[in-house]
Amino acid sequence: NRRIVLAARPRGLPTPGDFRLEETAVPTPGEGQVLLRTLHLSLDPYMRQLMDEIAPVYAASVPLGEPMPGGTVNRVAASKHPQFRPGDLVLGNTGWQDYALSDGQDLLPLGEMAQPSLALGGLGMPAFTAYVGLLDIGQPKPGDTVVVAAATGAVGSVVGQIAKLKGARVVGIAGGADKCRYAVETLGFDACLDRHGPEFASRLAAACPKGIDVYFENVGGAVFDAVLPLLNIGARVPVCGHIADYNNEKLPSGPNRLPLLMAALLQKRIRMQGFVILDHYGDRFDTFRREMSEWVDAGRVTLREDRVDGLDNAPAALIGLLEGRNFGKRVVHVAEG
Ligand code: NDP
Repeated sequence: NRRIVLAARPRGLPTPGDFRLEETAVPTPGEGQVLLRTLHLSLDPYMRQLMDEIAPVYAASVPLGEPMPGGTVNRVAASKHPQFRPGDLVLGNTGWQDYALSDGQDLLPLGEMAQPSLALGGLGMPAFTAYVGLLDIGQPKPGDTVVVAAATGAVGSVVGQIAKLKGARVVGIAGGADKCRYAVETLGFDACLDRHGPEFASRLAAACPKGIDVYFENVGGAVFDAVLPLLNIGARVPVCGHIADYNNEKLPSGPNRLPLLMAALLQKRIRMQGFVILDHYGDRFDTFRREMSEWVDAGRVTLREDRVDGLDNAPAALIGLLEGRNFGKRVVHVAEG
């Protein structure tokens, strides 16, 4: 049983030395427990935040020496639990390891799926985040201009495609020409700008001649600086993430732009609201899965998985995700089955 533990707290961008691969015995399930084999492991930006000593309020920091956490698709390998049988496919939370025990409480039966790893991406947490954040807080109307960054990623790609289904004009922001081409040609966005390109801010302004009605915030940083002056009166800003800051150890130096933000929020009556997707599973997840499956089956939403093979490649793959080297939803394929 291999597992990858947190070996050191990162300073800035994590390095391979912040992780350690360990071998342990495969655990034996006790009464009321199941033994789970990890098939697929989701890699997500929040994992970087849990590596810090002080984690976001809604989650716990990973203790040093403990396995890295993460959403997983698992096969039940052995069961002493009345509701699970060997061979069942479940959505779990067993983290960066081959095998784990569960009392079943945090498991969601998946039935048989043609592509089980979708339960971690386009039919799972990131797409659910896009759905709730965009529809509840962003509330796009036909003709609105919706802007989203990390536009080809797990959340952003779904935000833009749902916004298109709701009749909005969608402008994506992504890292590099290949991602931008994909956003327009395959995902159907109206435009997509390279955040690394020259004159990014003025090109964004040119791509949004009627301003921005909904900005789905995934990244913060320099992208937000370029977006802020373009927000329209009554704009909505679902604050989903700010990945540009996750590796920062302290506040950036330079002029304090808080007064600028306060003035814009007030004068333009902007609604900027943070949300954490964990709060929404109870009431909305089934509706989301039904609607999203219909869109995917009808070819109205396209999903792209960025597959990484082998548990031992997870550390490098998470580091790459934080650097924008993923193209689509990054999932580690740990085992066949
Ligand atoms: P992605 O699949 O989009 O991967 C991360 C992407 O972020 C990279 O590919 C890169 O895209 C972009 N990025 C990385 N560094 C920077 C930077 N410095 N400036 C701008 N962009 C950068 O990840 P997810 O879709 O899983 O997550 C997107 C966001 O949503 C994250 O902020 C995440 O924390 C948040 N999130 C929030 C949830 C909630 O409940 N609120 C739930 C799930 C996710 P590119 O190279 O194309 O710019």
